[in-house]
Amino acid sequence: MKFFIETFGCQMNENDTERIQFLLENSGHEQTVDISESDVVILNTCTVRESAKNRQYGHLGNLKKIKNLKKDLLICIGGCAAQDLKQKIIKDFPYVDIVFGTQNIADLPDLINRRISTGRSICSIEDNGFDPELFKVRRKHNFKALVPITIGCDNYCSYCIVPMVRGNERSIEAEKILRTIEELVFDGAVEVTLLGQNVNSYGKNLKKPYTFSELLEKISDIKGLKRIRFMTSHPKDFSNDLIDVVKNKDNIAKHIHLPLQAGSDKILKEMNRNYTRKDYFGIIENIKNKIPDCAITTDIIVGFPGEEKEDFLKTMDMVKKIRFNRAFTFIYSPRAGTRAAGMEDRITMDEKKQWFRQLLEIQNTISFEENNKLIGRRFEVLVEGNSSKNNTLLEGRMENNTIVNFEGESNLTGKIIPVIVKSARTFYVKGKLARDY
Ligand code: SF4
Repeated sequence: MKFFIETFGCQMNENDTERIQFLLENSGHEQTVDISESDVVILNTCTVRESAKNRQYGHLGNLKKIKNLKKDLLICIGGCAAQDLKQKIIKDFPYVDIVFGTQNIADLPDLINRRISTGRSICSIEDNGFDPELFKVRRKHNFKALVPITIGCDNYCSYCIVPMVRGNERSIEAEKILRTIEELVFDGAVEVTLLGQNVNSYGKNLKKPYTFSELLEKISDIKGLKRIRFMTSHPKDFSNDLIDVVKNKDNIAKHIHLPLQAGSDKILKEMNRNYTRKDYFGIIENIKNKIPDCAITTDIIVGFPGEEKEDFLKTMDMVKKIRFNRAFTFIYSPRAGTRAAGMEDRITMDEKKQWFRQLLEIQNTISFEENNKLIGRRFEVLVEGNSSKNNTLLEGRMENNTIVNFEGESNLTGKIIPVIVKSARTFYVKGKLARDY
């Protein structure tokens, strides 16, 4: 059968999609990028934000129309929203055939067979425990790869549904990660991104204790590996050792994504983040002192329950002082089942939107100014393919994660090449291939 997959949400979901592709292809199915010719449609869903949920519901509505025309089409829903809503999906959308969870992805080929042989819809949300075949995936590119190092999360931030849908944190054995990355490099990967909800707490549940800094150092020693990224870091577990490893190892990208979420201690406490604004400032100061060129990006939530204007202004103050290269900003949306969903929220949506616009305006100005500082400088860029905005240009990523568009031949894709930055925009820069390349 031909299957079509649509992925929502974070890189963890992208990695799960690569795994689904591998499993289905291994079972004799074939992927298609044209939904109209598919026999199976899979939505790999996200439940972290209301906007994603609404888009997914919109997609489900469209799928109903397609299924009305093509009765045999199988609709499968996986990912965090499936894990969260379970049977409710089939109740609300009776034309859905299979609901599967985040911890039994490996069952999908069997579930498809069962659905076909019984003719009955299936909701299967099993916790199959740690999956030893986790690294068997169909990668989109052979020059870069996503590598999960932890699964799940123990932090229970009061607004977040992830611990409920992905389970408690489990670290993957270091030897297995190292072996996988060696194989990836042998197969042509030059960049790996290590993934986890909180990569800094890596190793705490392993029989043989291991820290994230130790793991990172070992990975960076793998010959032929040109670039290592990691996300997401949690400020409460961010160690000075880690800053030293990032500083000392040439192949670790000088980019740290460190979610701030809020600038007020009162709100950070309500969010159960377990750090203060002073702690966060301390980490940033250490990073900037030791790695002056390091790009720092963040996530910020506006309008958390109980947030007052003075709390919001403390977030603005931190944004102005730290000068993040980029911030991913969101208006708070309650997730059923989280502690924050039951908290009193007196600020109107209009006011939250107004704060959000103010934050966006200041952050966009800072991002633009920081990108302007790159003009005239030369950077090593990993070419990722043609630009999504203008396919006559190539798009690549600098070590500090800035996107650069420039003219060049498509056969440069997958190579690390020198580019001189010529002009800046808010979210990317434009450049020119260095003359000596
Ligand atoms: S650290 Fe907090 S926000 Fe991140 S996944 Fe865990 S609970 Fe959610």
